Amino acid sequence: MPETSMEDLPGVGQAIAAKLREAGYSNLMAIAVVSPKTLAEVADIGEGVAAKIIAAAKKEADIGSFETGDVVMERRRGLGKLTTSSKALNDLMGGGFESQAITELFGEYGSGKTQIAHQCAVNVQLAPEDGGLAGETIIIDTENTFRPERIAQMAQGLDIEPEEVLKHIHVARAFNSNHQMLLVEKAKEIAEKKTIKLIIVDSLTSLFRAEYVGRGTLASRQQMINKHMHDLLRFGDIYNAVVLVTNQVSANPDAFFGDPTRPIGGHIVGHTATYRLYLRKSKGGKRIVRLVDSPNLPEAEAVVSITEKGVRD
Ligand code: ADP
Ligand code: MG
Repeated sequence: MPETSMEDLPGVGQAIAAKLREAGYSNLMAIAVVSPKTLAEVADIGEGVAAKIIAAAKKEADIGSFETGDVVMERRRGLGKLTTSSKALNDLMGGGFESQAITELFGEYGSGKTQIAHQCAVNVQLAPEDGGLAGETIIIDTENTFRPERIAQMAQGLDIEPEEVLKHIHVARAFNSNHQMLLVEKAKEIAEKKTIKLIIVDSLTSLFRAEYVGRGTLASRQQMINKHMHDLLRFGDIYNAVVLVTNQVSANPDAFFGDPTRPIGGHIVGHTATYRLYLRKSKGGKRIVRLVDSPNLPEAEAVVSITEKGVRD
């Protein structure tokens, strides 16, 4: 179903839409819940007109409906679980990374986020009986850390043909945060033609962090990250795909998040990600992965190693 845009609402032209977006009302849902008075002020229009716009937004917004638990259970039976190549990490995740959910890997530089993402890009191509989802991968690369050579090593580690594996990984560099968000739309175009079962954003937050500097920009940054994450979640829902995002813990914390072990994006990323994994380096090249937030799994840890062949126990 094509999404209704703000400009489709009666009484909203480009100028008003621009004002609304600027004030952070970036989608129909946001407009649907605002008061006529607020909307009138923000868009510089009369309250009567504002009320009409809000009523239309309520009608058009994709609010969805309630469903019974057994229906939800049935849908969850169709969820895929993607192997990470580490039994310990799979167990921690209840069998692997789940489709229709966002898994966030956060940790400091070099903690293994990109390695795990590369491993998943290979593994998703495996047959379900081997822990894959028999699908292809989309990677939105914001840090220029995608390495086909590393994919080839990991493919060899699983005795599969590197050339074939690389053909099923679709990579795009994102040059700024707007571009990054648009690439999710582009990803949908690919997913209409190919069986995409994994979308990776590595890193989710780095461009936002670089562009939105200082306290005054925090609210808009969070709003954009929030929208981006919801777009990704929607992608995961539509295509029954795994969504994997990375988030570097700031060693140089910005003004608002003083704790260096807190992931960038703060509450927004945390509340939208379904599963959050905190990675840290340990002795002998090992990595400790801690599941810090999950709707249905206990908080626990797994130890993985990163070898030439890829992620292993
Ligand atoms: P980040 O969390 O910053 O994304 P990475 O996932 O890039 O970190 O992890 C980088 C680390 O992965 C390296 O420091 C190294 O320990 C390990 N690594 C990278 N490539 C290989 C390889 N070919 N063989 C073994 N270990 C590797
Ligand atoms: Mg990385």
